[in-house]
Amino acid sequence: MNALYVRVSTDDQARKGYSLNDQIAACRNHLLAMDHTGIKEYIDDGYSGEYLERPGLDKLRSDLQNGIIKIVAIYDPDRLSRNLTNQLIIADEIEKTGARITFVTGDYDSSPEGRLFFSMKGAISAYEKSKIRERTSRGRRAKATQGKIVSNAHPFGYDWDKKNSMYVINEEASKTIQFIYHLCIHQGYGSRRITLELARLGIVGTNNRPLSICTVSRILTKEMYHGQHYLFKQRTCKTGQNSREIKDNPPEAWIPVTIPAIITREMWESAQLQIQRNKKLATRNNKHNYLLRGLLHCALCGRSMTAYARTAKRKNGSDKIYYYYSCISKESNTYAVNGTSCQCRRIPVEDLEQAVWQCLVTLATAKDHLQEYLLTNTNFSYSQQITNLHAIQIELKKKKINTLRWYQENLIDSETVERELQTLNKELATIHHNISELRTVLEKTNQLVTSPTDLITAKTFAEKRSVLLKLSYRIFAVRLNDSFEFYIEK
Ligand SMILES: [Zn+2]
Repeated sequence: MNALYVRVSTDDQARKGYSLNDQIAACRNHLLAMDHTGIKEYIDDGYSGEYLERPGLDKLRSDLQNGIIKIVAIYDPDRLSRNLTNQLIIADEIEKTGARITFVTGDYDSSPEGRLFFSMKGAISAYEKSKIRERTSRGRRAKATQGKIVSNAHPFGYDWDKKNSMYVINEEASKTIQFIYHLCIHQGYGSRRITLELARLGIVGTNNRPLSICTVSRILTKEMYHGQHYLFKQRTCKTGQNSREIKDNPPEAWIPVTIPAIITREMWESAQLQIQRNKKLATRNNKHNYLLRGLLHCALCGRSMTAYARTAKRKNGSDKIYYYYSCISKESNTYAVNGTSCQCRRIPVEDLEQAVWQCLVTLATAKDHLQEYLLTNTNFSYSQQITNLHAIQIELKKKKINTLRWYQENLIDSETVERELQTLNKELATIHHNISELRTVLEKTNQLVTSPTDLITAKTFAEKRSVLLKLSYRIFAVRLNDSFEFYIEK
């Protein structure tokens, strides 16, 4: 539906072309000329343009709000109001409802008043918006400058005191936080290990759920836990109609707010140092070559074993790295959290690798076992193995997509997604690694079959690894007190 709005004051009646009927006719013709039919009339007879309270205008504004009007024809802006600001406000209001204004006086658009009107129209709505924004952000900053928290971000460890706009320590959670710092500073644990340890001890966070790695990592890094909190560290910027981006503010824009401390500043600093040290060690650990990666299984539960490194402190306080193979159920959060962790223990990498390699060399050297142990593998197809791995890869990727979809549909919460994705990504990384290794072997030793000589003469890591991949035996291992046992399965 389209509308025409006409207004006459008592003074206007005498002016030529301004009578009620003249205006109605002009607006009607104007709309019809543009092919707009279905015209509803809004009439204010005998009302001054000084005030906005007019029955016809009120009705028009309410119909506009209800979205039933597409185009509003008006003789000239003067009909809306005598005052430019009010003209602009109404024009802005009309256009915000999605409707369009059209003025009958054709030359209005190009007249000086018209140009001013249209350039001011855009300016005034931008001005109003920024004014509102400034008022609110100024209010928020003022609140923060008075040492108050602007809005509750629900950080772990604190409850919300609404009356004073301040965080108060949650006693139970604060004990967990102190324990987390203890594990980091005195045991050298990283977030992942701390998370596992908390799950093992049955220590939970809010809503009785196990703490996630992300939460633990935040607890270890956020300065707020030693009492120094900063507000306005980030701001949200509008980047499109419905998109927003979070940007960092420069430090001079931050507002410090003191909150109750759960740990001391010294503890926080020691933790930061330990996190730095762990990071350095982690980079070194990534470079470590594990001979039995992907071939090893837990003899107790049959799950695969993963390789990892952990640091421990020497008596003189320096760090030492220990490498271990460990049943995946002990290292994956999914297993640990569900409480189905295997009872097996970790096996030192070097000892196990040496023993397994020694055993294979012995077998290869003993002539009578030779045929049985090595030649059974002549028909082994690498490409088949790669195909199998590819199939698993596809399954895992599907799982990943499903997990994300469930999350989007609110079927699972963010912590579960996080855990699931971590496990899936870990498995995918291992498979990816194994596929690329198999490919290399396939290319290099295309028609070669492992001979006992290959095994006996293999000296470097690459040579040994290549022989092992070609044999593709499954090795099962378990730790017993101070020693370990293993068996090799073809
Ligand atoms: Zn196990």
